[in-house]
Amino acid sequence: MKRVSVLGSTGSIGTQTLEVARQNPDKIKITALAAAKNVDLMEKQIREFMPEIAVMDDENAAKDLKDRIKDLSSVKVLTGMEGSMEMASDPCSDIIVTAIVGMIGIRPTIAAIEAGKDIALANKETLVCAGHIIMPLAKEKGIKILPVDSEHSAIFQSLQGSPADRIEKIILTCSGGPFRGMTRDELATKTPEDALKHPNWNMGRKITIDSASLVNKGLEVMEAAWLFGVGHERVCVTVHPQSVLHSAVEFKDGAVIGQMGTPDMKLPINYALFYPDRMPMKSEKLDLFKVGSMTFEKPDTDTFRGLALAYEAANIGGTMPTVFNAANEEAVARFLDHKIGFLDIYDEIEKAMRAHKVISDPTVSQILDAEKEARENA
Ligand code: NDP
Repeated sequence: MKRVSVLGSTGSIGTQTLEVARQNPDKIKITALAAAKNVDLMEKQIREFMPEIAVMDDENAAKDLKDRIKDLSSVKVLTGMEGSMEMASDPCSDIIVTAIVGMIGIRPTIAAIEAGKDIALANKETLVCAGHIIMPLAKEKGIKILPVDSEHSAIFQSLQGSPADRIEKIILTCSGGPFRGMTRDELATKTPEDALKHPNWNMGRKITIDSASLVNKGLEVMEAAWLFGVGHERVCVTVHPQSVLHSAVEFKDGAVIGQMGTPDMKLPINYALFYPDRMPMKSEKLDLFKVGSMTFEKPDTDTFRGLALAYEAANIGGTMPTVFNAANEEAVARFLDHKIGFLDIYDEIEKAMRAHKVISDPTVSQILDAEKEARENA
């Protein structure tokens, strides 16, 4: 029995993780759940999976939850960042799925690693901002960081344990999102509703906007560099609108190995939870005759500047990826609130990056200070 806790259980990755658990009642025990405010869904999840711990980040939501589940005395209800940290480090689980959005995941992820738990990592922002702390700590504690992002899972599956010095380059595929092929003039008028219509994947709101702006791909470049120990300049983005090849690795001998499948996040979640086993899973299987053909294009980084800015932030390093990420989080929230336009997201990121004085090798508290400054500058 694998004892699994889910940070962000009411979201897109969280609910799909619970679907994998539902399909494997004799192999997975859900021991802790955390969300921000969605008490209705959290109550349902608690009654179905009976975890030992439930966290609601919002204090009022936690009070409401306590009241609703007073008949379940075995479930401990916690709140706030302290609650998430306690849940992450509690010995009730062996592995934690980090399915929270944004760099707020840094502290619970570090707490879980300190406690010796494996990490099924969806929360890429954490690695982007604190990869230099998280990866060495994971090595020191002897724990596994198992990628949940479909591209990174594909790379992990393609690598089959090959060391970083055998990798020539990583081919990170990208659907291009709903605005692929559009000009800056066309992008200028796009609304959050337009950006939320992803052609292939059904995901949470923030990552869907990031996919439309290609900022998500930029974050994934940095995530891949940390996960697989290669320089970000060897992580090459290829637009592949069909989203069939989830990513690939070119090895030093010229062989290219990739992983294909339908766009279903349950596959990488299943792989991370059961690694190194490949557990059977109910899902739609890939029909290559239906796919017909696969195409590949260079990304347009002049129009979709988010990707170019991400490479620049990665090149500079230190606190700059944090500034890139935090300014984007702030800008996306304002775009979703109809307060700024789609292209303003790039301007806000650039403004914050230009205003920032980089600190190399930052501590967690310096990362959090850089975050605050970037949010103010964006
Ligand atoms: P969603 O917005 O769908 O879900 C976010 C979850 O986090 C919700 O359960 C939310 O709770 C919870 N949450 C938010 N803030 C807090 C907090 N402070 N404390 C505890 N819980 C909190 O996001 P996604 O599932 O789409 O994305 C999660 C992460 O996975 C992101 O980093 C994303 O980039 C990554 N990812 C997602 C993919 C996808 O297909 N969705 C694919 C690859 C990576 P509530 O519902 O109460 O607000």
